[in-house]
Amino acid sequence: MTTGAVIVVGAGPTGLLLAGDLAAQGIPTTLVERHARGSALSRAFAVHARTLEQLEMRGLAADVVARGQPVRQAQVLGAVRVDLSTMPSRFPFVLIVPQYETEAVLEERARQVGVRIVRAAELTELSQDGAGVTARLSTDETLEASFLVGADGHASTVRRLVGQRFPGRTVIKSVLLADVRLTDPPDGAAVRAVGGRFTFIAPFGDGYHRVIAWDTDQQWQDEFAPVDLGEVRVIMRAVFGTDFGMRDPRWSSRFHSDERQVPQYRVGRVFLAGDAAHEHSPAGGQGMNLGMQDSANLSWKLAQQLVGGRDLLDTYHTERRPVGSAVIRGTGRLLRLAQLTGPARLARDATAFAALRIPALAHAGQRALAGLWVRYPAPPGEHHLVGTRAP
Ligand SMILES: Cc1cc2nc3c(=O)[nH]c(=O)nc-3n(C[C@H](O)[C@H](O)[C@H](O)COP(=O)(O)OP(=O)(O)OC[C@H]3O[C@@H](n4cnc5c(N)ncnc54)[C@H](O)[C@@H]3O)c2cc1C
Repeated sequence: MTTGAVIVVGAGPTGLLLAGDLAAQGIPTTLVERHARGSALSRAFAVHARTLEQLEMRGLAADVVARGQPVRQAQVLGAVRVDLSTMPSRFPFVLIVPQYETEAVLEERARQVGVRIVRAAELTELSQDGAGVTARLSTDETLEASFLVGADGHASTVRRLVGQRFPGRTVIKSVLLADVRLTDPPDGAAVRAVGGRFTFIAPFGDGYHRVIAWDTDQQWQDEFAPVDLGEVRVIMRAVFGTDFGMRDPRWSSRFHSDERQVPQYRVGRVFLAGDAAHEHSPAGGQGMNLGMQDSANLSWKLAQQLVGGRDLLDTYHTERRPVGSAVIRGTGRLLRLAQLTGPARLARDATAFAALRIPALAHAGQRALAGLWVRYPAPPGEHHLVGTRAP
């Protein structure tokens, strides 16, 4: 048994941040990843202020920011604009950056601090007892450690092997994604819905824009069928009255969106983090941010436990599960609001327009989007700042 070591399964943003944090604190850490090399696909593209603050604490924010495009204003719900530049953070914007760039920064740091990264190896078996965990890989290697973290995404093998259910439901069956050039792009990021049709557009800053679109009346497509740019164009024109001169797709994909969460983030010596623990609607671009914040919460507690400090491991579940539930509820609400039609939509836009003119409500909206709202309950008798964000 490799006492004092941690195995992290999955080299997505959640696993990379966690493994790097552990190794940086002197914990022998092995990161196991199914794929031989990092993904060149950009699923997530929005990195929010709270995540950037946490990256800055690790000396990583400047590198990530340099690879992306800060967006300080977003057009949401019809003509309603949200000004992010007044957000109470050193990062008063949403950073639009391809997920592979964020992962590249995190992987580089993980290597520098000494994480053993085992690629082209899949976790296939897992057992645990009072002393530790044993993980069997597809390469026939067997790893032993004190703890294991499943950061292995929405179809998590770790979750299955520890017998955790993933209850919830599918909210949209067919979401279209296209990274394209736009001849006449909107100013900043834009979101609009008309009837059951929805379009989101954000600039990457390298001449390409991310477009996400769906039509709730066109949900029959096979999830693996290639995306025809014409499908995206039809939705975009219906929503914005123009396709902004959309052309030259460099990546397109079709995906579905679920709302799910595991009942327990901890099962003995095994923890679940990121998409392995929760999934929610794409509205608000929260998934990768939430996963990295799970890691930031768990890593120091694991490290502290392994050097004989106070046992805070159960607080990972009690602190992070409610945050995950709140994000599932909030992004679901945003999705349903975006899909309103007729008089309800007009009422929504008028209400949002009026609400965002009230500074307190505008700030609440910014804080919700940016993840600045999170605070954990302080134990009785602790200082009132315990559990609050340290910016
Ligand atoms: C189109 C799209 C747009 C999105 N946009 C945003 C956005 O703007 N902002 C945002 O915050 N989020 C966004 N998300 C969500 C975001 O991409 C995910 O939440 C994020 O990737 C989750 O990170 P993760 O590390 O938890 O899991 P993943 O990124 O899924 O990584 C899991 C890793 O585990 C590996 N793995 C799986 N099983 C095993 C095994 N048995 N053994 C070894 N390795 C294994 C996988 O190969 C993978 O590399 C978007 C998602 C999609 C689909």
